Amino acid sequence: LEAKEEFRHKTLATDVMRPRRSGPPLSVLTQSGMTVEEVERLIIDTTYSGFPVVITNQSQRLVGFVLRRDLVISLENARRHQEGVVSVSAVLFSECDLPESTNTPPAVKLHSILDLSPFTVTVHTPMEIVVDIFRKLGLRQCLVTQNGRMLGIITKKDVLKHMAQMANRDPDSILFN
Ligand code: ADP
Repeated sequence: LEAKEEFRHKTLATDVMRPRRSGPPLSVLTQSGMTVEEVERLIIDTTYSGFPVVITNQSQRLVGFVLRRDLVISLENARRHQEGVVSVSAVLFSECDLPESTNTPPAVKLHSILDLSPFTVTVHTPMEIVVDIFRKLGLRQCLVTQNGRMLGIITKKDVLKHMAQMANRDPDSILFN
């Protein structure tokens, strides 16, 4: 990716991130409070490669990022091999072990698949810098926050599309590495 003059301070992360104002909202998981069934439903209903994990839907405070494939494998494993796991079992990304009640089904603990330090920028970060970060760190995606709240996501493909738009070129013709 060349450091193109036209990216300089013109476009910000907020202009490139998803969701768009008109589009579907950001799909997030909460660190606790969701069931196996709810997480499986999200996997079926979306095709995203990953999901930000937030403390609560209300706070939208970022906890980490989980890859779709890790989520699929872990839930399948839990369904198959973890005794007592059912659709209403809780899914926990948090580390703290609440004492489990004996009359609720066992929780599926997914702390180990959570990336606790996903790369984040703020809505005000110039795209020139975002592009530089993607290139230098070889990122697949980057999260966008405002005042500590999860607001959006920018994938490598989003960056490429944006650059192609800027350069008015075919995204496939731009070498990204
Ligand atoms: P790619 O951009 O490589 O196709 P994804 O399938 O993960 O990767 O994302 C498809 C589109 O959806 C992208 O524009 C991306 O910004 C957006 N997106 C990715 N993850 C989420 C999410 N959890 N919630 C909402 N939109 C997302």
